[in-house]
Amino acid sequence: MDYKIFENGDYGEVRFSEEMKNHTTFEIGGPCDVMIIPENKEQVLNTLKTIKEHDFSYMVIGNGSNLLVSDKGLRMAIIKLGEAFSQIKIEGEKVYAQAGAELAEVAKASIEEGLAGMEYVSGIPGNIGGAVTMNAGAYGGEMKDIVETVTCLGQDLEIRTYTNEDMHFSYRHSRVQEENLIVLEVELALEKGNQEEIDELYHSLTQRREEKQPLEYASAGSTFKRPEGYYAGKLIDDAGLRGYKHNNAMVSEKHCGFVINTGGAACDDVLYVIRHIQKEIYDKYRVKLQTEVKILGEEI
Ligand SMILES: Cc1cc2nc3c(=O)[nH]c(=O)nc-3n(C[C@H](O)[C@H](O)[C@H](O)COP(=O)(O)OP(=O)(O)OC[C@H]3O[C@@H](n4cnc5c(N)ncnc54)[C@H](O)[C@@H]3O)c2cc1C
Repeated sequence: MDYKIFENGDYGEVRFSEEMKNHTTFEIGGPCDVMIIPENKEQVLNTLKTIKEHDFSYMVIGNGSNLLVSDKGLRMAIIKLGEAFSQIKIEGEKVYAQAGAELAEVAKASIEEGLAGMEYVSGIPGNIGGAVTMNAGAYGGEMKDIVETVTCLGQDLEIRTYTNEDMHFSYRHSRVQEENLIVLEVELALEKGNQEEIDELYHSLTQRREEKQPLEYASAGSTFKRPEGYYAGKLIDDAGLRGYKHNNAMVSEKHCGFVINTGGAACDDVLYVIRHIQKEIYDKYRVKLQTEVKILGEEI
């Protein structure tokens, strides 16, 4: 594939052979063929148009906090929205955030305005575009509860605004995944609340996360989806896999639902641990654990 075409044209910053490990919270992943960093809608549109014209494979990434990328890298174009896509605007109880805005920053801005609703998702280390794509959630709240509309670029190069209902939200799923949309902007509907109560909930959930999760290590959060009727972390613990290690990938001692990178882990090390867990849990409990983490460039 000749990605050199991206040298000529208005696409934003273009980087060849960019190491994906610098763009994932797992700190794992070899070079992608090309990374395009658009700074406005026009550049996103130009990028997708060129990708379509040349039939290139591509993927959009956010903060890379739900990704496990092959050490061999990715034979495709990666679109990562640039800094200019992190603007946040609040009008009354409505919050408008561009897709590249960090969820934590959107939460902070909303809470400062006395708006309730973002406390539950505030600690998720993704961008709002990634959070909407994944319908990310925590402690009983998920993006679906607060999203009013989502503006996306479609495969047909049209920009459309979808209502909450149009987004087909379900557990860690949205329409973005179904139709390979590119999220550009998100509108949230929050509610004026009692500042003290909002602050208290926010601080208690932040504390809970810090106590329970191995935030001192690189990871992509919960490795597996919650299997119906069970908790992945508990099954893994019950199976005696707490601290199970292969080279530098390990089941967290603090939270068995997390596979962590203890330093310099290869993608293969993490995959080895994931496969071992899946086999043990199936052999012991006949439960099939599916990865929540998106594995790119490798088969699971
Ligand atoms: C320490 C830790 C804790 C975590 N805790 C939670 C938690 O409590 N709850 C939870 O749900 N998740 C959690 N996660 C996982 C992760 O943070 C979420 O899935 C998050 O929503 C991913 O956002 P991102 O911007 O990093 O997306 P990425 O990981 O970059 O991408 C995830 C998916 O979204 C797509 N995507 C990203 N941006 C766009 C866009 N603009 N347009 C179209 N598609 C896009 C990508 O193609 C990919 O399919 C945790 C992760 C870590 C590391």
